Amino acid sequence: MKEQKATNVTWHSHKVERDERESLLKQKGVVIWITGLSGSGKSTIANEVANKLHRMGKVSYVLDGDNIRHGLNKDLGFSPEDRNENIRRISEVACLFADAGIITFTAFISPYKKYRNFCRELAGTKRFIEVYARASLDTCEERDPKGLYKKAREGIIKDFTGINAPYEEPENPELIVDTDKETVEESADKVIKKLQEFGCI
Ligand code: ADP
Repeated sequence: MKEQKATNVTWHSHKVERDERESLLKQKGVVIWITGLSGSGKSTIANEVANKLHRMGKVSYVLDGDNIRHGLNKDLGFSPEDRNENIRRISEVACLFADAGIITFTAFISPYKKYRNFCRELAGTKRFIEVYARASLDTCEERDPKGLYKKAREGIIKDFTGINAPYEEPENPELIVDTDKETVEESADKVIKKLQEFGCI
């Protein structure tokens, strides 16, 4: 991880603390880190759960791969170093959102264990739910919702996870959703149940 560059910077404590924000919102801030191959259903699930939460009167936010790469991380590509920096920045942002009391989804392939664990440590116990959106490469490639697998097979996209870049499966995720066997509704309900178990809603 990156070294601290700036010196003479001091962490300020705030007048309104996290637990006060959370009691105002009647929920607990948490990072729901959804990992999986492209096309495994990360964005679909995050958005379905966010929609359900909204109807329950809960505040959530989805940090999504492409959106972040259009703004905050537009200077980053797909080399291992850039992927890692991408995830490091997203982790920091997700934890700030969670600290604000928001149920925060991240929907990134995040292929490397080490960097998923970076966010786990940053967020702290009971504030991090790793969800493995599991689907076979064949299923993901068949779905190919953005036409990316086709481009990867044609050699137009290099370093594509699952094709010519590695994906390290989670070892002990808090939740697995088998998106090639479950409906979107079933997967989303499992996440809601997990949020209840964690006392976030
Ligand atoms: P990712 O964000 O992982 O790249 P997307 O959510 O964009 O993937 O696309 C996943 C595709 O799989 C969507 O077309 C979605 O409708 C479909 N799908 C089928 N079953 C499920 C499920 N149980 N959960 C999530 N997506 C599913």
